[in-house]
Amino acid sequence: MANLIQLLPDHVANQIAAGEVIQRPASVIKELVENAIDAGSSEVKIIIKDAGKTLIQVMDNGCGMNETDARMSFERHATSKIRSADDIFKILTKGFRGEALASIAAIAQVELKTRQFEAELGTKITIEGSQIKAQEPAQCSQGTSFAIKNLFFNTPARRNFLKTDIVELKHIIEEFLRVALVHNEVGFKLTHNDNDLFSLPSGNMRQRVVNIFGKTFNEKLVPVEQETSIANIHGFICKPQHSKKTRGEQYLFVNKRFIKSNYLNHAIVSAYDDLIEKGSFPTYFLHLDVDPASIDINIHPTKTEIKFQDEKSLYAIINAAVKQSLGMYNVAPSLDFESITNFEISPVNSRTEIKMPQISVDTTYNPFDRSTSGGRGAGSVSIPSSSGVLKPSRDWEDLRNVQREFQMPLEREVRNAEEEQEQAQQKLIEEDTTEKSVGICIQLNNSFIVSNIKSGLLMIDQQRAHERILFERFLKQLNNQHPLVQSQLFPEHIELSPLDYALLLEIAPSLEQAGLSIENFGNNTIVVNGLPAESTQLNAKAFIESLLEQIKHHRNDSKLEAREKLALSLARSSGIKAGKKLSQREMEQLLHELFMCEIPNYSPKGKPVIVTFTSDELAKKFD
Ligand code: ADP
Ligand code: MG
Repeated sequence: MANLIQLLPDHVANQIAAGEVIQRPASVIKELVENAIDAGSSEVKIIIKDAGKTLIQVMDNGCGMNETDARMSFERHATSKIRSADDIFKILTKGFRGEALASIAAIAQVELKTRQFEAELGTKITIEGSQIKAQEPAQCSQGTSFAIKNLFFNTPARRNFLKTDIVELKHIIEEFLRVALVHNEVGFKLTHNDNDLFSLPSGNMRQRVVNIFGKTFNEKLVPVEQETSIANIHGFICKPQHSKKTRGEQYLFVNKRFIKSNYLNHAIVSAYDDLIEKGSFPTYFLHLDVDPASIDINIHPTKTEIKFQDEKSLYAIINAAVKQSLGMYNVAPSLDFESITNFEISPVNSRTEIKMPQISVDTTYNPFDRSTSGGRGAGSVSIPSSSGVLKPSRDWEDLRNVQREFQMPLEREVRNAEEEQEQAQQKLIEEDTTEKSVGICIQLNNSFIVSNIKSGLLMIDQQRAHERILFERFLKQLNNQHPLVQSQLFPEHIELSPLDYALLLEIAPSLEQAGLSIENFGNNTIVVNGLPAESTQLNAKAFIESLLEQIKHHRNDSKLEAREKLALSLARSSGIKAGKKLSQREMEQLLHELFMCEIPNYSPKGKPVIVTFTSDELAKKFD
């Protein structure tokens, strides 16, 4: 019988292995920028087109490579950074596996230009799907320049797997920041589709954070500095009152490598104890320097997790260091924080003695024991369905069963049968609510509207109702109708964090369609010339901030299409909220507009908007 087992050709093996290292454009940026840093560069420039799908270019002024090394660099397991397995435990460079360039070259069209300082001519290599296409001497500046074109051109399945440009760009920025934050001695520039997203001159760590996250960060930062025999800690934490509702900027680096560790994150967060509200997240940028022999960075191919020899001691040291900084800041707030005006969180008792951190580890202590409270259900108001509440009769029950089945009322997923049922109920309500039968409206708790219809009683969640109305309206506008723009009398300049700025520029064309007119003013600043007609009750800054928060929040919600997500974000940023008092006229208007909607019964995310009780049900209650 013929032999079945064959060795895979190199280019196939490379393609498969590439999947481990290169998942998306952001992975390419990470690998190339790390290489540039390992090469001792002081300036790194990154140019991207179409979120890296078309072009990623990384240029550095590092040591460069000679002709042989340039060729070798694309071989699998070719590295100048380690010589033996033992070296892994002394590692101070970013890379060491010698896999990145081989992987990238397997799945893209790559052009390398590189020249060493002392060399007159450099080398240019073109490689595509692991095949060298050309190699020649070339005039080029000192250092190395990689251009990666058409990522995944030969692996269409992987290319299709890529997300929208905005999601990929977000990943790129995240990877970029993880390197830029820890290498403040290196100058970086990141350009996307001709927009300069980041221009970071070399400087100290505080300057780097401020350059990235905006000037307002300067006064939020509290330094952390601690040296022990096990680890040195330095960096910044944010004052408790600047904690965020989203797990935003939390950066922990070990030996200049970004890592994720729930355990050590807990050490930091728990130091804030009662200083921050439950459900808030402190911002931090902390750097840990430990003996390379005491960690194993070799456990994950993309290397954001590492194993520590003595994690418990590290926990205690970090926790104490953060507590100490918080304590110092509370005890001596005038040291460099004169500007506090509104410190609402109860300060640590000033008589509490602040001790130097000591490594005394309670071996039985498990930081995860304290069970955290369950789902927060942020802002979701729902009507209790059990005891004490009227139970819908059979007919209505049937209708509601249909609604329940109809868990994901995404516009495109509405199946015909369900649609008919929906319409049946819709009709019932319509018959009842047209011709000003939405007469008496009562607002409960400034959140729900109760109204009578011929056949019973309606309860409506005002926030969700308005969200539904605006969602459908924005969706229509995004689907190519003429937007209604309300010009701003005094166009407002708004400075954003670079990440927000990048996100906003990316979606600006769609926003334009939805009636939001913004102009790029450069320097992380935009000018809002017009807002959607629906949202004029808000000021432009609040609207943009809320919109960005929404957009960041929904990014990973794969059930909604990009356009639906944007419509939802716009709706949420513009809509009236629970807790807002409404006049009789406003309530009537809201109900009227709700019943004009295609799917009035559900919020865009599938939560009920209307609850109905028939007269029969009500009558039964009084039996
Ligand atoms: P690793 O970084 O793990 O060594 P890579 O595949 O990323 O593996 O790179 C292979 C080798 O190519 C590196 O070890 C280094 O010698 C060389 N190299 C890569 N990028 C650069 C660069 N920007 N400047 C100088 N040398 C580089
Ligand atoms: Mg590398």
